[in-house]
Amino acid sequence: MIVVLRPHSPPDQIQSVIAEVERLGYRAHSITGEVQTVIAAIGDETTHHTLDALSALPQVERVLRVQKRHKLVSRLPGAATTVIDAGGGVRIGGPRVVMMAGPCSVESEEQILSTARAVKAAGATVLRGGAFKPRTSPYEFQGLGAEGLRLLDLARRETGLRIVTEVLSEGDVDSVAAVADILQIGARNAQNFRLLVAAAKTGRPILLKRGMSMKMDEWFLAAEYILSVGNPNVMLCERGIRTFETATRNTLDLAAVALAKRETHLPIIVDPSQAAGRADLVPALCAGAVALGADGLIVEVHPHPAEAMSDGQQQVDFALFEELMRGIAPFAAAAKREW
Ligand code: PEP
Ligand code: MN
Repeated sequence: MIVVLRPHSPPDQIQSVIAEVERLGYRAHSITGEVQTVIAAIGDETTHHTLDALSALPQVERVLRVQKRHKLVSRLPGAATTVIDAGGGVRIGGPRVVMMAGPCSVESEEQILSTARAVKAAGATVLRGGAFKPRTSPYEFQGLGAEGLRLLDLARRETGLRIVTEVLSEGDVDSVAAVADILQIGARNAQNFRLLVAAAKTGRPILLKRGMSMKMDEWFLAAEYILSVGNPNVMLCERGIRTFETATRNTLDLAAVALAKRETHLPIIVDPSQAAGRADLVPALCAGAVALGADGLIVEVHPHPAEAMSDGQQQVDFALFEELMRGIAPFAAAAKREW
């Protein structure tokens, strides 16, 4: 870390900062300029005590960090993207762009099975569907819970699709992990650190949504929680953030996708459904995401969107899903990816 002292700090005050830096286990190297002194604190910032508190000293102007706080998720120069094996031949982060598709919520056997068959026929390899739903209002459909998990398991057995579904609370981690090939951590829980750790400890791959007001740095640190307890299988999911714009439900931050690809080695998934909040925009957002390097997409598909028990306005029907799958091919080719 770098400690910048105020102009013309007297030598005894400089010495006391050096002593404090050394007391905290760093080697101190001071550089004295015409006006200001800078102390370089040499030592691993991720294992040493932070020096941030030194800025409380009157002679300290500011304290700067040199290393990134998220060392495990950061991409080292030249490093390849991590490839996550979700089982059943589904690999995320490799040459092939992966499509995860299915309803917002699991509603019935007929609904989930018909959707599973349709999305599989169109080329999806992972089935999504919420059994536990995080709803803004307590009066809205909360999901079928354990019955929803049973239906997802049924769809998995019949179609061979892998399953991604949300785990909403620590208490549900084991039952969800028993069925899910990928555990989804939702936007509203993206900084629920105890849930992140509990989900991580199952060893299952984790799809970590970006919280709707989370900065990228915070998103990466949430992923760091999962890696730091020994689960390397994390994919980041951009699902739109809150901005001043109200024409779409959220604002899909494609710059964050491009930047996350550069800054981290984790596969990046884009969720155009929660981002746009309207079905007609979903195909274009999918194409854009794939063109700029997303490793996968997660799209809401429903047999009859108008009858959906949650997020009906943003779910595409089978026909539009099939069309969007075909439409992505040239964008995947342009990004030099398999589709
Ligand atoms: C969802 O995938 O249906 C969902 C609730 O997503 P998010 O957590 O991104 O809002
Ligand atoms: Mn939804």
